[in-house]
Amino acid sequence: MIFKVFAKTELERLFELLSVNPLVGPLQRDTDTSGNPLVGFDYLYDFEDLFLDYPTTHYSLKNYFLPYTEQMCTFQLAGTSWNKHVDLHDYQKQVFFGVHACDINALNKLDKVLGTGPYPDPYYLAKRRNMFIVGFNCKTPLPTCFCRSMGADTVLHGFEMFLTDLEDRYFAEIRTSKAFNLIQQIKARDPDEVDHHEYLDFVSRKNRSFTAQVDTTDLTKILDMEFQSEVWNGWGEKCLACGTCANVCPTCYCYGVEENVDLNLQGADKSRRLYSCNLIDFATVAGGHNFRKERHVRLKYRYYHKHRGFVEAFEESLCVGCGRCGRACLAEITVPEVIDSVRSGVIEK
Ligand code: SF4
Ligand code: SF4
Repeated sequence: MIFKVFAKTELERLFELLSVNPLVGPLQRDTDTSGNPLVGFDYLYDFEDLFLDYPTTHYSLKNYFLPYTEQMCTFQLAGTSWNKHVDLHDYQKQVFFGVHACDINALNKLDKVLGTGPYPDPYYLAKRRNMFIVGFNCKTPLPTCFCRSMGADTVLHGFEMFLTDLEDRYFAEIRTSKAFNLIQQIKARDPDEVDHHEYLDFVSRKNRSFTAQVDTTDLTKILDMEFQSEVWNGWGEKCLACGTCANVCPTCYCYGVEENVDLNLQGADKSRRLYSCNLIDFATVAGGHNFRKERHVRLKYRYYHKHRGFVEAFEESLCVGCGRCGRACLAEITVPEVIDSVRSGVIEK
């Protein structure tokens, strides 16, 4: 890793250099009832719209490379034969500017499932390979953020450049040759002792500001032991089975595939839609049998996939601790409370 430092006035130049490609970044859309900014990722065309000082977004970046709905291919009859057309929807490079460590870690986890193994997902990979990511060190975690507990508050790969705000300048971690070439085009220098010191101060200040945490010690074993625990029934009674948690989660990737035939029987298409394992028909199979009819069973399996199955397969959790699911859940079900209850055998609220 190479480190550089540049003045804040240079950020606009960096933004302009990258804006030759479509650029997605944090944009303030509105304020909530307490006057706090509501920020979401969107295409940015003006540097003034870049809202870097955001705690988190409601939605992650997931849908820029794993859209909610995506047409995978179309079929057309041609005489006695037929043609198949596959579109990976990867038309041009996209820049993602101001992405927090938790969201880059989420992409790195998705890469393990969708980007490797015997059947890598070409639709995901096409978009993922066409990304240029500028990370940004989150300054003030929300009270519901527990990324530090999940080891996702810092990130070592999966980005080109990662910036930390040192008040009058940025401390830049340069990860790739593309980023190195880019930084040559702005006024940047090598960091000195003072920069290193202030960077470490930033990190320790941020670390002290986390309030939520999850005890992950021996969690996979505890989940194995507590598979029949009564607490799952309790959470199932609260859960509305709405699927919102998976919708906002940066690492939920389950989808269903649909095939539709044109009314004139001359063509067809195959599409996929992201789905949630909490929805009632998630485990319904041909013939109508539903393997997970009860809400508590579906909720339990979501937790087992994140904190048990994925750990067994990849030696890390599928949760980055962004807290989005808990903030979006109308039943106020949060990961820290569910995990605490499995450990203690008691639901506190
Ligand atoms: S958002 Fe909450 S209520 Fe909705 S499915 Fe997820 S846990 Fe259940
Ligand atoms: S499970 Fe919840 S806290 Fe964990 S990554 Fe998904 S949305 Fe974030």
